[in-house]
Amino acid sequence: QPPVILCIGMAGSGKTTFMQRINAHLHEKKTPPYVLNLDPAVTSLPFTANIDIRDTVNYKEVMKHHVLVDTPGQIEIFTWSASGAIITDTLAATYPTMIAYIIDTPRTTSPATFMSNMLYACSILYKTKLPFILVFNKTDVVSHDFAVEWMTDFEKFQMALSQDTTYMSSLMSSMSLVLDEFYNHLKVVGVSAVTGAGIDEFFQAVDEAAEEYEVEYKPEIERMI
Ligand code: GDP
Ligand code: MG
Repeated sequence: QPPVILCIGMAGSGKTTFMQRINAHLHEKKTPPYVLNLDPAVTSLPFTANIDIRDTVNYKEVMKHHVLVDTPGQIEIFTWSASGAIITDTLAATYPTMIAYIIDTPRTTSPATFMSNMLYACSILYKTKLPFILVFNKTDVVSHDFAVEWMTDFEKFQMALSQDTTYMSSLMSSMSLVLDEFYNHLKVVGVSAVTGAGIDEFFQAVDEAAEEYEVEYKPEIERMI
C-alpha cells in the first residue's frame, strides 16, 4: 500500500513549496505520487494535482459571498471540519496515512511561538491519532537544532522560557509539561523545501511512520470494524 502524507501547517510555513519538493523527488525516483490539492485559496500550483479542489470550489466566488465572515485558517478547516475528518478517516482506513506538520523554523525561534506551534501540532495528533512527522522547514535560513534541543532537554526549554518576559511564562511552563509526553510520539526532521536538504531523512521518517501505522494504527481500525 502506498503511504499517504497529509501536509498540514500554518499559512506560509512552506506546505506548497514542500509538496513541490517531495513531488519532484518522487518523480526523480520514478515513483510518482498521486497528488491532491485541498487548498481552494492557492492561485497557482507549482505541481500538477490529480485532484484539485479549485475545480469544485470557486474561492473568489466564495469570498464574494462571505465577505463578513472571518474565515479560519485552512489548517482548522481541514483538521476540525467534518469533511476533513471524513477524508482523513477514509484514507487512514485503507492506506498507511500520516501527518507531516510543516513548521516555519525561522519564525518559531521564540519559546512562546515555539510552544504555541507545538500545542497546535499536539491537538492535531490527538484528534487524528495518526503517525506524526514534525517537519522543521526553511533550515537554509535557521537550523532546527534549537528546536531539537528544546524538545529533548526540558531544562533548556524552561531556561529559554524564563528569559522570555513578554509572555505568561508560568502558564507556559505548566503547559510545556504536556508537551513532554507529546514529543515521545513524534518523528522530527529538518528540511529546506527550497534547497532540498533533509528530504532523504524525511522519506526515512515516512517509512518509519508507515511501519508505525501497520503496528499501532491498523490493528485499532480492524478492531473498530
Ligand atoms: P504555504 O502557505 O504553507 O503553502 O507556504 P508556501 O509554500 O507558499 O511558502 C511560503 C513562503 O516561504 C514562500 O515565500 C516560499 O518561497 C518560502 N519558503 C518555503 N519553503 C522554504 C524554505 O525551505 N526556505 C526558504 N528560505 N523559504 C521557503
Ligand atoms: Mg500553500
